[in-house]
Amino acid sequence: MPSIVQELSGRRKLGGLRTVVECPFKATVLREGPAQDSGAGAAWLAFLCPVHTVDLDGWPGAADHGDNGTMPCGTVLDYRPAEGRLQSHADLWLTPLTGVNPAAYGGRWSEVLDQADRVLLARVEEATAVGEDSPLQNMLAMMDVARRAAARGELGVAATSLGYCERLAQGL
Ligand SMILES: [Zn+2]
Repeated sequence: MPSIVQELSGRRKLGGLRTVVECPFKATVLREGPAQDSGAGAAWLAFLCPVHTVDLDGWPGAADHGDNGTMPCGTVLDYRPAEGRLQSHADLWLTPLTGVNPAAYGGRWSEVLDQADRVLLARVEEATAVGEDSPLQNMLAMMDVARRAAARGELGVAATSLGYCERLAQGL
């Protein structure tokens, strides 16, 4: 890991490794996300190619730094606590996809993920009923892992599981 990453992240422990866009190119830019809510370091660091430096919704940075292709474009090192990562998944794709808004559940992530799981399952069953394969089918297994982890209070595991779902959501 380049030392600039250590420096920009405030030497925090990495919370999650995400791929937020499917892109075949190497990064030329290391985008520094906004500052953490408390303490040192950026909330996240994103590696982006020239195209996605301009064209990537949902990842407004505080500053861009040069990068010599250390990572594939679309790689995000997420240093936020688990709740922050879960909220980011909700904002970027889970709420748009399922209509389930965490604000309505007062931060009870196990209920949010239970409800999102029910919505996805219902959609898959609707598709099956008319003889179609839903692409959401592939998301159900990881959503189930996320839901169960949140129920045990393991929000970090839940956020990591949503990272897999995030990649699948890009193909929808
Ligand atoms: Zn790219």
